[in-house]
Amino acid sequence: MHRIPRDHPRYESLRIRQLLVSGAERGLAVREGLLAHGRGEAFDYLLGERTGPEARRAARAAAAALLLAGRPVLSVNGNVASLAAPDIVRLAAAIPGAVLEVNLFHRTEGRARMIGRELRAAGRRLGARGRGLRIFADDPDARLAGLSSERARCHREGMLSADLVLVPLEDGDRAEALKRAGKTVVTVDLNPLSRTARAADITIVDNVVRALPELWRRVEGLRGAPRARLGRILGGFDNRANLARALDRIGSRLAALARAPCPPHPAPRTPFNGPRRPSR
Ligand code: ATP
Ligand code: MG
Repeated sequence: MHRIPRDHPRYESLRIRQLLVSGAERGLAVREGLLAHGRGEAFDYLLGERTGPEARRAARAAAAALLLAGRPVLSVNGNVASLAAPDIVRLAAAIPGAVLEVNLFHRTEGRARMIGRELRAAGRRLGARGRGLRIFADDPDARLAGLSSERARCHREGMLSADLVLVPLEDGDRAEALKRAGKTVVTVDLNPLSRTARAADITIVDNVVRALPELWRRVEGLRGAPRARLGRILGGFDNRANLARALDRIGSRLAALARAPCPPHPAPRTPFNGPRRPSR
């Protein structure tokens, strides 16, 4: 793993990227996952790389939905395992009855097993609550209708019988198939225009590394609240309107940046703008 200088202006972004690269090197994530991360990074840049009010509002509604659900399932793919395994395990442990299920777009049983081990290790570090978590990883025994090939495979006692699924960084096809199967779909997706973001009941437009800790805080804050209050929080949330506000935020941020003064001149010297070597 490369050491990233602490004083690098984009330290946090590079640190997150490095987490995913080392996840890929360990075999948790695949190359396609690196590309998907790049798309996410572009939207994070546009959003200012922080958790906005829309993301916080969606996280509150998602926490209420998770606490109201009878059979909530938290889906984990290679990118989520690489970037946020301890966060998703801690979240699952905070929600009564929640289970974790490994679900891969490019599925191999070896990779599913490895991610299962990663989640169990994070659970053990969490103590008794983490050790008691149900984790479905390899050997799926069911199929989700409306999807072809390996992507449809899931667990009967996990995703197949879930009434709510949290599917961070999901592909649009599967999000739509889960909706058609009658499940409440909650997602974390930096792209407010993706099919997943639009198909879900609740979309948290934020980086998964920030969104899962925020969601955990919301769950902790609402656990034990009367069901009627949770129902009101959920009922007052409108995903379409919230996505529209996230897009508006990007739009007005870009408009403000377009009018902002240019960076100081002369620009700091970088390998790309330094003096040119005399040509021979
Ligand atoms: P869709 O299939 O939903 O239309 P897509 O085909 O554009 O989306 P996928 O690769 O299927 O993209 O899904 C990955 C999604 O995850 C993308 O929308 C991407 O913006 C988002 N994403 C990638 N990295 C992160 C991250 N760290 N946090 C949150 N979202 C992310
Ligand atoms: Mg897709």
